Amino acid sequence: MKAVLASNNKHKLVEIKTMLSGKFDDILTLKDLNIDIEIEENGSTFEENAYIKASTIAKLTNMCAIADDSGICVLALDGEPNIYSARYAGEPCNDKNNNEKLLSKLHALEKNGAPVDRTAYFQSVVVLCQPDGSYVSGSGRTYGKIIDEYRGANGFGYDPIFLSSELNKTFGEATMEEKNTISHRSRALKDLLTKLI
Ligand code: IMP
Repeated sequence: MKAVLASNNKHKLVEIKTMLSGKFDDILTLKDLNIDIEIEENGSTFEENAYIKASTIAKLTNMCAIADDSGICVLALDGEPNIYSARYAGEPCNDKNNNEKLLSKLHALEKNGAPVDRTAYFQSVVVLCQPDGSYVSGSGRTYGKIIDEYRGANGFGYDPIFLSSELNKTFGEATMEEKNTISHRSRALKDLLTKLI
């Protein structure tokens, strides 16, 4: 089976392509198909947003499409930024502003002197959609805590301030292979593949 990855995020594309290699005959990107599209993610859950992306691309290409929607949820912030992780700090949308907003929100809570639970998890939902709109989804989660120091230059997004409980290093310090063994996205893809079989 051939599949197209419905994402423009080059970090996600590399992670997903690596994890799915051997599972599909061919995995194409939007760039491979010369598709330049901004899809409005107006769902209210990770699953809805993943479905919006995958179904739009499946219909457009008449191929099976795979999309991930993911984000980080911080317990002390009642689960924020959740589905708004990519655009947490507003415009201009970038990782540095998002990380700084997250840290400043935690610092504001800590100023009051109460203990703050910095536990956080990454959540991913992946959807594989057919051109007729039928789909299968998988979900995955990985836990850690938010640290003040930026550690490591690998990965993207919140990786440098997410200290993984399982790796005992930040995702920014982990190699892609290490991250892929325990990441939310790899768990979501495993869940999806199990359902497909
Ligand atoms: P999406 O592309 O709309 O699913 O937004 C995902 C956002 O969640 C990214 O822009 C990051 O801010 C964050 N995120 C998701 N997965 C990861 C990850 O593996 N590492 C770091 N940040 C992530």
